[in-house]
Amino acid sequence: MSGLVSIAYLIAAVLFIVGLKQLGSPKTARRGNQLAMLGMLIAIVVTLLDKKIIDFSYIVAGLVLGSLIGAIAAKKVQMTAMPQMVALFNGVGGGASTLVALSEFYHLTGHPPMDITITIVLSVLIGTITFTGSLIAYAKLQGIMRGAPIVYSMQHYVNGLMVLAVVGLGAWFAMEPSLLAILLIITVISAILGVTSVIPIGGADMPVVISLLNSYSGMAAAATGFVISNNVLIISGALVGASGIILTQIMCVAMNRSLGNVLFAAVGTDGGVVSAAGEQKQVTRYTPDDAVVMLDRAQSVIIIPGYGLAVAQAQHVLQEMATILMSRGAKVRYAIHPVAGRMPGHMNVLLAEANVPYDLLLEMDAINDDFQNTDVALVIGANDVINPAARYKKESALYGMPILNVDMARTVMIVKRSLASGFAGEDNELFFNEKTMMIFGDAKKMVTEIVQILKH
Ligand code: NAP
Repeated sequence: MSGLVSIAYLIAAVLFIVGLKQLGSPKTARRGNQLAMLGMLIAIVVTLLDKKIIDFSYIVAGLVLGSLIGAIAAKKVQMTAMPQMVALFNGVGGGASTLVALSEFYHLTGHPPMDITITIVLSVLIGTITFTGSLIAYAKLQGIMRGAPIVYSMQHYVNGLMVLAVVGLGAWFAMEPSLLAILLIITVISAILGVTSVIPIGGADMPVVISLLNSYSGMAAAATGFVISNNVLIISGALVGASGIILTQIMCVAMNRSLGNVLFAAVGTDGGVVSAAGEQKQVTRYTPDDAVVMLDRAQSVIIIPGYGLAVAQAQHVLQEMATILMSRGAKVRYAIHPVAGRMPGHMNVLLAEANVPYDLLLEMDAINDDFQNTDVALVIGANDVINPAARYKKESALYGMPILNVDMARTVMIVKRSLASGFAGEDNELFFNEKTMMIFGDAKKMVTEIVQILKH
């Protein structure tokens, strides 16, 4: 029997790895997800059959309830609310690891080996930090608490002291595993640490933190796998831990920030700061009619989607507009910045939802040199990813971040509601550039008007 279980676990692990690989491209992502789901199903079924469970009633109740909540939440969630849903799911995963490790404590008899006691401590520590940290991340993104960093004096020292306390208590528990009180104190300190380490991080940096917490939840699961000697939990936990940390690194590089800067520099506002420069400089308002005059003549158009496109849910009407322009002979493509939106791949997922063909989506490096030969760069709800301050303004949070060379196009058209800044809280001089046409309004409303005028 144990041989069969090992083979089933191996198949599940292979499915996870192939699934992860396929998630790397929009074309294969759906299939990758299905393969990983199949792997998880095999792992769960085999584990349930193998473990000689006396009573299945609680397990079935948990499965039904959990599946129901998961399915309804996934169906109802808005694309823009996806990061907070991932945060909740990470948190629940971390909490589950803590509970399994705590319950395993009750099964300890005699003097258990130190590798078990150490992994119990790790599981409780990382799992609980993930749980409370993820709840704070959820609350910030959902607007339940203020998104701006919450800072107070000696914050990092206090957090450092708590880490030291947990390490000391963990070592004590490893040597004296009969003392439940130590494990409970570790749980409480870890819970506080989860809160205090996430509150100083700005709400807009939360997607990076969520990716990091995702990695923690994997590490907690892997530690729990060691506690209960379950290979598939160790493998899947390690995969989540590794992919989460890789994604965190990719996001930091694309934002030109170090992880230390994201975690400790308390960068960020609640977003939507009104441009100070905008109050002094003149900006000319254009209408959807003006836009159509330009778009009708354009032979090449590059569309730059940003966070505002997701907020307005304008992807379908945008695709309709692009189709009309292409049917009239224009070359239309989409330029995707790696950190446009609020989560990795945000724009790809959004545009895939509107059935935009994948070959029209070009990554920044593939399209950046084409702007200079393009008639219209049409920016829909993007801001930071086109802000020229990133090239030269050393004191800017954006400094050094590669941007889309929108300002090189012959005409720049920007659709947004106001002169407000984006996530980085940085003014954008491009709004005042003489070749820029600012079209103020909700992206869906404005693009719908453009489509209607184009049609008639
Ligand atoms: P952005 O800089 O946040 O700008 C989005 C713009 O959309 C805002 O200036 C806003 O201006 C406009 N907007 C909001 N609602 C709108 C609506 N209904 N209709 C039209 N416009 C609307 O977004 P971005 O250019 O996509 O840049 C993403 C930023 O997020 C980067 O700084 C990136 O570093 C950061 N970030 C990204 C990720 C990721 O993984 N993608 C993760 C963490 C952080 P108005 O209010 O004037 O309309």
